[in-house]
Amino acid sequence: MGNSTILVVGGGISGISAAVEAAEMEYEVILVEREPSLGGRVSQLRYYFPKLCPPTCGLEINFKRIKSNPKISVYTMAEVIEVSGNPGKYKVKIKINPRYVNDNCTACGECERVCQGERISDFDFGLGKTKAIYLPNPMAFPMKYVLDKEALAPGDLERIISACKYNAIEPEMEEKFLEVEVGAIIWATGWQLYEATKLDHLGYGKFSNVITNMQMERMASPWGPTGGQILRPSDQTIPQRVAFVQCAGSRDENHLPYCSYICCLASLKHSLYLAEKNPETESLIFYIDIRTPGRYEKFLKKAQEEAKITFIKGKVAKIEEDPETKDLIVTAEDTLSGKKIHEKVNLVVLALGMQPNTPNLNIPGLKVDEYGFVISEEGIVGCGCAKMPLDVISSVETATGAVLKAVQTIIR
Ligand SMILES: Cc1cc2nc3c(=O)[nH]c(=O)nc-3n(C[C@H](O)[C@H](O)[C@H](O)COP(=O)(O)OP(=O)(O)OC[C@H]3O[C@@H](n4cnc5c(N)ncnc54)[C@H](O)[C@@H]3O)c2cc1C
Repeated sequence: MGNSTILVVGGGISGISAAVEAAEMEYEVILVEREPSLGGRVSQLRYYFPKLCPPTCGLEINFKRIKSNPKISVYTMAEVIEVSGNPGKYKVKIKINPRYVNDNCTACGECERVCQGERISDFDFGLGKTKAIYLPNPMAFPMKYVLDKEALAPGDLERIISACKYNAIEPEMEEKFLEVEVGAIIWATGWQLYEATKLDHLGYGKFSNVITNMQMERMASPWGPTGGQILRPSDQTIPQRVAFVQCAGSRDENHLPYCSYICCLASLKHSLYLAEKNPETESLIFYIDIRTPGRYEKFLKKAQEEAKITFIKGKVAKIEEDPETKDLIVTAEDTLSGKKIHEKVNLVVLALGMQPNTPNLNIPGLKVDEYGFVISEEGIVGCGCAKMPLDVISSVETATGAVLKAVQTIIR
């Protein structure tokens, strides 16, 4: 029998699910997350299909299960930097980056109120700012502030320290290293969006009213940079006509050759976000094929009934900007009529594909395919979007499967 501790790398919905499932079977679990909070991409969504639940729905219950289970040790702002050994007996080195805020923090917010320095919010994909001392998000786990020392304004540190009644600010905190022994590793490092700037013809980064699908999620979120209003970045007005560019980077030999599985569903969901605010808002979805696999066909019907959507079968060839109004002209070939069309819209959303957070590590036993997705092997098992593009339900299912494989390695 191998070492019976399971290491889970990545604290998104897949990693959290794997950790909880394993701990509830009495295995010791070490959960390592790179960011200051657990939750992964799900915590950045407004709602998630098929039921259109807010992220709190799935995450809060799992955070409760983690809190009440002493078998799970959580390390945030942490990364695996070395793995040696074999299935059943691995030695792992973990690096924990300094948060500069200790466990005394009660998230009272006094530090944030007196802080003047600001930083661009990566959680909001650059659409908003946070103070230099910030809460990762309103449902963060752990519920603790983080300090970005680089973003402090002169005098901030003194102000923050004296505002904190709990002695939680530790500017001298240093990185720490931890060595652990585990029997199996579950790799759940998830996904990142394909880089929109690589799609030159779609104008991202050049035209302010071309946004990504994840920026749309953040705008629609009540905790987002616009407090839940979907607005054009150029003038903060409400768009009346919005184009969605499907397969932006996906199913393209020059970019991501595979289908990212969720992008059609995400754009349908975004059309519902627009309809929720104003039923008259038009969504124009430019697509190659609309993919709503299995039971998601029902979600397509719901979007068709509840949102004002025009589907245009054709790949977008280019996007241009009207320099005066900042409206966008989308050019595509409508493959059904054979005609070239030009549609003027107020906002463009790029339905970007998912690529794996490729582990940039030389880990013995960790195998990845040509795109960087994890190939499960004895001892090191992939799950969720680290394995393939997936929705939340399937990610959670693969997490349960990964726990079973990890347990098999341990008891062998
Ligand atoms: C625009 C858009 C909308 C979507 N909407 C929906 C929806 O409505 N419904 C639905 O079912 N699905 C939706 N999805 C898909 C959903 O986001 C994924 O299914 C889900 O995020 C998968 O969870 P995960 O844990 O595998 O990955 P992630 O959510 O990416 O979590 C991975 C975690 O690992 C961490 N990590 C990464 N690298 C490291 C490292 N080296 N060390 C430690 N930690 C690391 C990350 O910080 C992150 O917390 C959407 C996707 C997109 C692009």
